[in-house]
Amino acid sequence: MTTTLIDGIGLLYTGDPEREEIPDAAVVVEDGLIAWTGPAAQAPDADERVDVAGRGVIPGFVDSHAHLIFAGDRTAEFQARMSGEPYTGGGIRTTVAATRQASDAELATRALGLVNEMLAQGTTTVEIKSGYGLSVADERRSLEIATGLTDETTFLGAHVVPADLDADSYVRLVAGEMLDACAPYAKWVDVFCERGAFDGDQTREILSAGLKAGLGARVHANQLGEGPGVRIACELGAASADHCTHLTAADVAALADSDTVATLLPGAEFSTRSPYPDARRLIDAGATVALATDCNPGSSFTSSMAFCVALAVREMRMTPLEAIRAATYGGARALRRTDVGWLRRGARADLVVLAAPSYVHLAYRPGVPLVHQVFREGLLL
Ligand SMILES: [Zn+2]
Repeated sequence: MTTTLIDGIGLLYTGDPEREEIPDAAVVVEDGLIAWTGPAAQAPDADERVDVAGRGVIPGFVDSHAHLIFAGDRTAEFQARMSGEPYTGGGIRTTVAATRQASDAELATRALGLVNEMLAQGTTTVEIKSGYGLSVADERRSLEIATGLTDETTFLGAHVVPADLDADSYVRLVAGEMLDACAPYAKWVDVFCERGAFDGDQTREILSAGLKAGLGARVHANQLGEGPGVRIACELGAASADHCTHLTAADVAALADSDTVATLLPGAEFSTRSPYPDARRLIDAGATVALATDCNPGSSFTSSMAFCVALAVREMRMTPLEAIRAATYGGARALRRTDVGWLRRGARADLVVLAAPSYVHLAYRPGVPLVHQVFREGLLL
């Protein structure tokens, strides 16, 4: 078995709460896994040595919220919004129409392109949702395509009620026949719990059916206004409540007292010119916070975790350390994964060598491509 010593690391951010930062560090990789981390001066011998010449190293980003199975283009909608029209979520139906018309190959090619775009920017784990099919066949094929790209697949039939059905019949379909068809391809079930999408009772019904089918729960919660989403996520033991932009004191307390991660998606607020979530309030209360891109063609068409880190620091008053933690360790917690999101013995050797001496530069130098190299399971891409 070959061991590789990655040596000469400026600042190593490990993501491991027991020892988060190690200056002048080294990492030993063995058989695709982390075998050792520590000060370079104490590094053990290895078969091969890679000198990264003072660059910073971080775990690969864990992007725990992305919508990558879609077709069509919403440039005009973005342009209109930036010219003063409000975001209501109704544009999802535009993407649904285009997605239903696209071939499997078109959808797969588009999604693979986005996954590769993410990988080149240091994202080594990504969650992918369905939600632009909204029929049994189109949701199932969306998830089938997603399973070819990631283990973290999410059934989001409850994204919006399709134009041709009333809400009650659609909820019955999602929690019944559609769930049955999609569950074999999904790890998670998700609901867009929001005024104009699905209310509390509908959310509870769909999530409960998903849990019964063996899926884990996650919720699009409290994005556009206060509502029951976060409370339901915590009550049902969801892995994550995503968005968390409009929270009551009770919502914050519920997140702090639960294992449900608060996943913040500042790309959505940026791209819809909306107020950002109050990250400080959540962190100070003791909630676990993750950052993700929400990559989707409507409300947040970025694939860059580094951009989200920069937004979190500048606009949400997270410290650079809190932001990198949320983008790696936090994302892994939101997917209930212990093999990614940190560089500790036994974890997957997914890591990013930065074109900068430390992770702080991700926020300090916003918009600058700072990924020098990406290793996935110990292999240099
Ligand atoms: Zn989303």
